Amino acid sequence: MTETSEKVLQCLIIGSGPAGLSAALYAARADLAPVVLSGMDLGGQVSKTDTIENYPGFVDGIEGPDLVEIFQKQAERFGAEIVFDSATEVDLSQRPFKVTTYGGEYLAETLIISTGALVRELGVPGETEFTGRGVSYCATCDGHFFKEKDLIVVGGGDSALKEGIFLTRFAKSVTIVHRRDELRAGSYLANKAKNNPKIDFIWDTNVTEIIGEGTVNAVRLKNKKTGEEVVHDTDGIFIFIGHDPNTEMFKDRLDIDENGYLIMDKQMHTNLPGVFAAGEVGDPHFQQVIISAGMGAAAAMEVVEFLESEDA
Ligand code: NAP
Repeated sequence: MTETSEKVLQCLIIGSGPAGLSAALYAARADLAPVVLSGMDLGGQVSKTDTIENYPGFVDGIEGPDLVEIFQKQAERFGAEIVFDSATEVDLSQRPFKVTTYGGEYLAETLIISTGALVRELGVPGETEFTGRGVSYCATCDGHFFKEKDLIVVGGGDSALKEGIFLTRFAKSVTIVHRRDELRAGSYLANKAKNNPKIDFIWDTNVTEIIGEGTVNAVRLKNKKTGEEVVHDTDGIFIFIGHDPNTEMFKDRLDIDENGYLIMDKQMHTNLPGVFAAGEVGDPHFQQVIISAGMGAAAAMEVVEFLESEDA
């Protein structure tokens, strides 16, 4: 279904990460014939993750894109339809809700919002100019361009360490620049990174500028404690400093917290009856594939309850 349709769907799912695809599986198994709008990347952030080692059922880990394919196939097997399109506008003023996409328009009795989160940018000079020319937010996508190169990774969380470790498969060296003297990441990844001979750390330091000619060749670093500034040569910079939830489209009608995350209750209900949410769009805390998948399943179960309560 890619053009305007008068048909009213029982359930439309916006976003195709672990939350959206798990919601699709559960909604499909309840015979709701859900439609999933994939967004720009089918699978969301997971599609750009290399090995996922903590999703139960995969003893040796699984590549992100492979997990997405399994989620997709399983949802489709029960009748979910995945449409490669993105929502551009939502009208939540009345039911059925209206969702406009690049390809058409959808009417739906219930919505599950699983639009996830976008990578956060540093916001320093040179970042936009050199994105794709030495600045990257995805080690899986771009790591292989940096064989035997010297790289900077920014951030001190699990993502920075996990992706930094991944980059050592290609790079000659990886220097992790963190703004504090203590990592946010858990001890497993912290120890793995600290024991990796290709990884160094620069503490208490911000990247204040990305410098290059055509492509990146250096970054300007400023020590927060001493104020000292140095220009540090590098072939590339990978930025992993967290995410911002994708909620812009909903902010007029749905309750959103001060950091932009959708507010929902434990049953995945937003403040608007018939609109549910799941995954990182409403989860600033856990941000795990397993948690998002669980939230998606819960949201679909609540959709079933909601529709049944209206029929009663
Ligand atoms: P995060 O935990 O929020 O960490 C972001 C890091 O970036 C922090 O160290 C933060 O510094 C730093 N930072 C934020 N804004 C910055 C700025 N403007 N300039 C410089 N540094 C900045 O984000 P994440 O690492 O993406 O992880 C998100 C969630 O996913 C977490 O719950 C994490 O546990 C989970 N995750 C888990 C795994 C796994 O394998 N288990 C892998 C990836 C992610 P401060 O520490 O000073 O705030």
